[in-house]
Amino acid sequence: MGHTMTENFFWPKLGDFVSRHKYRGKEIGFVQSAESVINRALKQIDRSELVNLGCDLVNIPSPPGHERKIAEYILGFFESLGLETTKQELGEDRWNAIGVIRGKGDGASISFNGHMDTSFTGTPEDLLWVRKEVASTPEFQPKAFVKDDHIYGLGIANMKAGLTAMLTAAKALKKSEINLKGDVYFTGVAGETGRAPVDEYWGQQYEAGGYGSRYMVSRGMVSDYAVCCDGSNMKLTWVQTGVAYLKVTTYGKAVYVPFVNRDWNKRQSISALSKMVPIINAIEDWSADYETKNSREWDGLLVSPHVCIGCIRAGVPYRPSLTPGFCNIYIDVRTPPDITPLSILDEVRRLVRQVDPTADVSMYRSQMGHIAKDAGVLIDTVEKAFKDVCDKPIEKATAAYNSMWTDTNVYNEIGIPCVKIGPSPSDIGEERKYGAMPIEDILNAAKLYTITAIRMTDNPKRKHQSQNPRKS
Ligand SMILES: [Zn+2]
Repeated sequence: MGHTMTENFFWPKLGDFVSRHKYRGKEIGFVQSAESVINRALKQIDRSELVNLGCDLVNIPSPPGHERKIAEYILGFFESLGLETTKQELGEDRWNAIGVIRGKGDGASISFNGHMDTSFTGTPEDLLWVRKEVASTPEFQPKAFVKDDHIYGLGIANMKAGLTAMLTAAKALKKSEINLKGDVYFTGVAGETGRAPVDEYWGQQYEAGGYGSRYMVSRGMVSDYAVCCDGSNMKLTWVQTGVAYLKVTTYGKAVYVPFVNRDWNKRQSISALSKMVPIINAIEDWSADYETKNSREWDGLLVSPHVCIGCIRAGVPYRPSLTPGFCNIYIDVRTPPDITPLSILDEVRRLVRQVDPTADVSMYRSQMGHIAKDAGVLIDTVEKAFKDVCDKPIEKATAAYNSMWTDTNVYNEIGIPCVKIGPSPSDIGEERKYGAMPIEDILNAAKLYTITAIRMTDNPKRKHQSQNPRKS
């Protein structure tokens, strides 16, 4: 029997789905198989609607610290569909945007997470990193355009493509009127991309590295499972590295150029900048060893933590007539899940003091990496969903996509099993690759999230975590 019209039929046993319809003024429920429910939801996904949504998101600039406008758009999108919405005000111009499809309450809940802030900003700030010729290309502008089955524009790859897919899944689930057992959260968050307040740079625009997600999960927006929709080139991972940001300072004297001693050794003792040179060399040598020593598989996922000296400051361009009295370099060290940022600080401090005993090393970002625990059912579900959508087995994410910090860590840190899968280029070794995404990948991600939501909410809720300090 495919369906029934009895009154008290709405609450099916595990494994059944019910869709509601009006029949002669009365609401009736049809029991449907998971497959037919999934097909009904997938039929709601429309390519041109998805493209328009992706372009809308690109056209709303959302540099870190200024995610309010895009959050307003996303909240409006949720409201127009009839989702339960929550706005979280992190700052005056910085909001989180959350939409929930409520289930009956007897199934597992799941969150889909997407950050709204963009890695580059589309403002003159970008010229601190990229050359003018690159920053002025169309891909670097928050103005979307479609060409050769790609959406182009600033932030599409990180991660407005993932956001588009996530919102499209919300729409498909809501419009198909499926009665899910568990709640599905769609969370647009602020402040994910890699930044940390330091020196004179304080304020909302420097608060990042999971700032919005951490706020969200400590303000009630939690679920049994989570999917981070950030970039993985549509491959699967459940491990992400931690991060240490370190600042190294050398000291010298500000001496007017005619009085600088020409003797190399003496000159080096005066210029903090010259004193930094052997330290940079030592750190680069150490980096190569560190990366080799710490590259290994975690549950079949290759992690290869990298190191980058990302900034140097000494003196000013308009007055090179003085030797710099101090010099700072700023280093990003990625850490595998078993290495603490604190131990990195110790290691780099030892290394630097061997070269220059007067140099200082401090840390201004310290976040652990994590591997998901208790994620078996989620991993299996995503693997199966991928096979259904792409008709081939899912691949594991490459080392680069495992060896980054994303909001995946925020969930795994607090014991919510989280995997990462989302559209992004295969490698982003080139700046301009941030600005283009194949529409096909976004469509596939939207389908994958839709299926994952339906199947995951049909699982039982997760049990409490063990509180026994001597048992995992
Ligand atoms: Zn991202």
